[in-house]
Amino acid sequence: MKGKRIIFMGPPGGGKGTQAQRLEDTFGIKQLSTGDMLRAAVAAGTELGKQAKAVMDAGQLVSDDLMIGLISERVDQPDCANGFILDGFPRTIPQAEALESLMADKGMPLDAVIELRVPDELLVERITGRFACAKCGRGYHDTYQRPKVEGVCDACGSTEFKRRADDNAETVVSRLEAYHRQTAPVLAHFEKTGKVHVVDGTKDIDQVTADLVSILEKSTAAG
Ligand code: ADP
Ligand code: ADP
Ligand code: ZN
Repeated sequence: MKGKRIIFMGPPGGGKGTQAQRLEDTFGIKQLSTGDMLRAAVAAGTELGKQAKAVMDAGQLVSDDLMIGLISERVDQPDCANGFILDGFPRTIPQAEALESLMADKGMPLDAVIELRVPDELLVERITGRFACAKCGRGYHDTYQRPKVEGVCDACGSTEFKRRADDNAETVVSRLEAYHRQTAPVLAHFEKTGKVHVVDGTKDIDQVTADLVSILEKSTAAG
């Protein structure tokens, strides 16, 4: 069951982060969210963060060169030795091609590409209601996923929460446009691997997790 390498595709607000956090424990593999990495760089004020901030606030995509460099270094870290779930990468065809070649070079075969499919009309509400624990990053939603105890993080007990600067109704429009124009073609690109699975992301959160676990238990790099 261990050693899985999975790519999570899906629109902004589709549920990638929520599901990836759950699969980390189930399969003992690391969630690699390029959005989280970029937000950490912005908060830390690094050179990468300075370059990424305005692009993210506009709902556009950070350059392929920066993103490919970031992921290439990240998968070499020891916490990825058992495998990883890529959440938010690749988002363009050049990123997909670079990923395939770097995984081949590093001897890291791909097990599955998952498309979490959710229609646009559900995404604005998902995104504008999203918040997360300020301490551990656990994701929540104003309507669909409130903490079990009001105001207290289920995972770590923290009472501080945060919302993303780009989770507003205006930026969502640009992000959805970027998804359809630049990221959706990546799914067609992966079709030839025979490893793409489409999951209905409109079901409730527990049902989506159950569907994912059942697919991933069966999928292996061998086919
Ligand atoms: P992504 O990482 O794909 O951008 P998230 O996992 O952050 O998406 O989910 C976006 C918001 O929608 C979050 O607030 C999350 O709690 C909520 N959410 C995730 N999956 C579902 C679902 N199946 N049904 C309803 N709300 C969901
Ligand atoms: P969501 O899942 O809601 O779309 P993310 O947290 O994955 O949001 O990404 C937030 C922002 O970070 C994106 O709108 C984009 O500006 C930037 N970003 C994240 N991943 C990538 C990537 N692979 N390529 C280019 N930009 C990225
Ligand atoms: Zn927490």
